[in-house]
Amino acid sequence: MNGAAAVMEPNTRDMEKTAHENNKLHKRLCRLVGQAIGDFNMIEDGDKVMVCLSGGKDSYALLDILMTLRERAPIHFDIIAVNLDQKQPNFPADILPAYLTKLGVAFHIENQDTYSIVKRLIPEGKTTCSLCSRLRRGILYRVADELGCNKIALGHHRDDILETFFLNMFFGGKLKGMPAKLQSDDGKHIVIRPMAYVKEADSTRYAEVKQFPIIPCDLCGSQENLQRKQIKGLMREWEKKYPGRVESIFSSLSTVVPSHLMDPAMFGFKDLKADGVASPLGDIAFDDEPCSTPAPGVFSIQPAAD
Ligand code: SF4
Repeated sequence: MNGAAAVMEPNTRDMEKTAHENNKLHKRLCRLVGQAIGDFNMIEDGDKVMVCLSGGKDSYALLDILMTLRERAPIHFDIIAVNLDQKQPNFPADILPAYLTKLGVAFHIENQDTYSIVKRLIPEGKTTCSLCSRLRRGILYRVADELGCNKIALGHHRDDILETFFLNMFFGGKLKGMPAKLQSDDGKHIVIRPMAYVKEADSTRYAEVKQFPIIPCDLCGSQENLQRKQIKGLMREWEKKYPGRVESIFSSLSTVVPSHLMDPAMFGFKDLKADGVASPLGDIAFDDEPCSTPAPGVFSIQPAAD
């Protein structure tokens, strides 16, 4: 083996390994997005889906994966990518049209100067995001109407959903997340989040692999939401110290037991009466040994240890 071949060999192997990993990542994203679409019946035959494209990594990934899934789907649905150009300073207005034209997907760029409105109404130094997103939401609903789209797809992923869940719990006193499917505020559309099961790390990696032309999200000059940043840090720390914890918390969002929470609107606590029927998997499911979960149908009480 000559010297050149000896140098080339590991490179080729590395490249094959990377290609294999990238292929696995693409398959994983397709599987998770397909699963979320199925679990929530997000897209049906004949739908016209407006995919909101901000120029951030997640919206690019959403569009890319939805286009792959559309080719394989047994149903027919249309996709139209929509970007709202909010006239932020230095917004590179040519990037998205060039990308979307090359991709061959139908698209619409909506030009609305919400940046000036927000700057005019919000005092300097205050956070502008809530007014900005309210304005954006209204515009996107109108555009969906004009384009005849019945579904509006957003690129939020698993970590966005969890962060919102914790923000609501820590700062809003509510057990409330970001649903994978909901009716829009104007009651006219269904908003879907097909990336709901995708980890942010996978979305970030996918954007690198696909070399999406990312448009920075700080053009408006708004300060990063400090509370969200804190939650992000917490989740990162948990994941490092206790692998699997974040996934477990995410699973809990779809395994809710209203009778074991405290919301009288969710469960009829006031009318609760003993019906004489033992529930073997009821209140002891998480007790420590020896009160371990008995087999279904078997109800026994272990004597407490002295
Ligand atoms: S970061 Fe800027 S563009 Fe994004 S929601 Fe906040 S104010 Fe609007």
